[in-house]
Amino acid sequence: MTTDHPPQSAHRVAVIGAGPSGFFLAERLLRSGHPLTVDLFERLPTPYGLVRYGVAPDHEKIKNVTRSFDKTAGRPGFRFFGNVHVGTHISLDDLKCHYHAVCFATGAATDRQLNIPGEHLVGSHSATEFVAWYNGHPDYHTRAFDLSTERVAVIGVGNVAVDVARILCRLPEELAVTDLADHALTALAASTIKEVLLIGRRGPAQAAFTNPEVKELGELIGADVAVRRDEITLDALSEAALAASDDATVRRRMEILTDFANRTPSGKPRRLTIRFLLSPVELIGDDAGAVAAIRLQRNRLVEGKQNRLVAEPVDQFETIPVGLVFRSVGYRGVAIPGLPFDDVKGVIPNDAGRVLECPGGLRVPGIYVTGWIKRGPTGVIGTNKPDAAETADCIAEDVSRGAGLSPREQDPEAIVKFLRARQSALVTWADWTRLDAVETANGTTAGRPRTKIPTIPEMLKVIQGA
Ligand code: NAP
Repeated sequence: MTTDHPPQSAHRVAVIGAGPSGFFLAERLLRSGHPLTVDLFERLPTPYGLVRYGVAPDHEKIKNVTRSFDKTAGRPGFRFFGNVHVGTHISLDDLKCHYHAVCFATGAATDRQLNIPGEHLVGSHSATEFVAWYNGHPDYHTRAFDLSTERVAVIGVGNVAVDVARILCRLPEELAVTDLADHALTALAASTIKEVLLIGRRGPAQAAFTNPEVKELGELIGADVAVRRDEITLDALSEAALAASDDATVRRRMEILTDFANRTPSGKPRRLTIRFLLSPVELIGDDAGAVAAIRLQRNRLVEGKQNRLVAEPVDQFETIPVGLVFRSVGYRGVAIPGLPFDDVKGVIPNDAGRVLECPGGLRVPGIYVTGWIKRGPTGVIGTNKPDAAETADCIAEDVSRGAGLSPREQDPEAIVKFLRARQSALVTWADWTRLDAVETANGTTAGRPRTKIPTIPEMLKVIQGA
């Protein structure tokens, strides 16, 4: 293995998680002007986190951000330690022995639940699992999603729900030119889905999706988009809120949705229907314990805390036959052993990235957070850049005034020996570039940006030149 030899005098920072936040943080630290080095730890052999395993395969341009991550990886003082699980191969205490600061950029690894009867029936899945599966995440390649049904409900109207609905509506030939996982390509090509319902519990003015994403739903080759006029007619409270804020984004969204409501179906193979002001109250199973229908309750909007309009159920119900349900109601952070956790918000309590013992409490010296585990699962990839800058500046300030950790180990190479003893299949940046070259070469042959290798043993075989 070749590793750069960081200067002995530099302060060493361990960053846990090689997604966008981890890279943005590393970049800011390495360009801070302080003598700092960064070791980026990643559980998988592959870098880029949600850019590789979350961004929709048909949104290839968004993935170009990895070019700037590659530049960061090329900076002096940067090392990548892939296929290393913090908690299994190395503990937080071990990290404290080697580094002046440790920053967690571990994202929001799980999904929120609906907590309704039938949520765990066969055919009811979290959107995050489906997304990871179709993006070729190695933890999900054995999952199966039965797409031999006519109607699917996607619960939630955020951008993840929009991604899922769009991928379900794409034609096989559209998907075949993306880096969608091969197993998903086969399954989606055989899909018998005719209608996808996107279901929002509040109204169109409160929907979490962004305008370019919802507009794209109206441009699908393989699906007619439909919206009910009565469900996008704004109630008095939404009208008043819109008039008061004069929010151009919401006005534009209303134009897009009104255009959808004015359309007549043009006979495309699928239909994508966006519904509003409906909450799922039960998933109804068939005799075999599989989802057969979804029971929805109508909502009206009322004023909640801090002038937020919230959904209040009314006595009106609707049952729609569906064979598959994806709940897409947001991600949630996962606690890290040995660190405090705010169970209400699903984040690690912090002040501008400096970890606190509890919200508003004392600092945990030398430990930091950035990204979704710091602020919650909100914003687009770019949102993580200023967020990472804030944390990086705290780290640089603290370590340069001696307020970081005091690692027992002084040799920057000691961590490599330590990791090799715990994980013989340690993956370096050079190893990743070999894997990347094989994936992109295989993709080029098939007319695709890349062909993802779906399991860790297969990735390691490629890296080891087998
Ligand atoms: P999100 O934006 O927070 O949307 C969650 C949706 O779930 C909202 O519509 C929310 O409604 C709804 N919801 C929550 N609890 C519910 C319940 N109990 N019953 C029914 N509906 C419920 O989350 P996300 O879609 O997972 O996206 C996460 C972040 O990634 C977002 O910032 C998103 O913009 C970003 N992202 C961006 C892109 C892109 O730029 N193309 C793609 C994917 C993801 P309420 O508003 O009523 O709570």
